[in-house]
Amino acid sequence: MMKAQRSFVSAEHRTSDYLAAVKALRDLDSGLRTRAYAEAVCQDHLDSWAKSRHLKPSSSYPCRRLLFGKRCGRGSRAGCQDHELPASDHLSVWQINGHHVIVSQPYGIRDSWLNELASLKVRGVHIEIDAWPAWHFPGSVLHLAFWSAPAWDAYMDRITKLQDGSP
Ligand SMILES: [Zn+2]
Repeated sequence: MMKAQRSFVSAEHRTSDYLAAVKALRDLDSGLRTRAYAEAVCQDHLDSWAKSRHLKPSSSYPCRRLLFGKRCGRGSRAGCQDHELPASDHLSVWQINGHHVIVSQPYGIRDSWLNELASLKVRGVHIEIDAWPAWHFPGSVLHLAFWSAPAWDAYMDRITKLQDGSP
């Protein structure tokens, strides 16, 4: 049998609080364990990600046309079925300097979505695919961020200026 038991922090962080939290999670039913962890971290994941990417929530509804600076007019707050992104689930829309980023947090990536993801990339959309922050259900969903080209440029510009120390 393969062994999965690991320590995820070094000895100085294995405090009594840390060990008690691990024990409390282990003592839960396995179906509840993941949910308890998710409930404890989801807001922090969302806030940390938005802060690290210099993004604010957008009032626009999710539509792939946003990524190309185009208007739609066919969708609603729930989204736009005419211009749906691949791997769309648990969507949210963000902005930096008025340029859009659409976040999707699906449970997985289907083979049939890969070509569509590649074609968005060819058209200038920057796509991040990560396990973190996945705030919809940390530990169970993926996080895909679709950045319009000007949004990604604005983000790169922001972090370059911060690294240079300019305001
Ligand atoms: Zn649309």
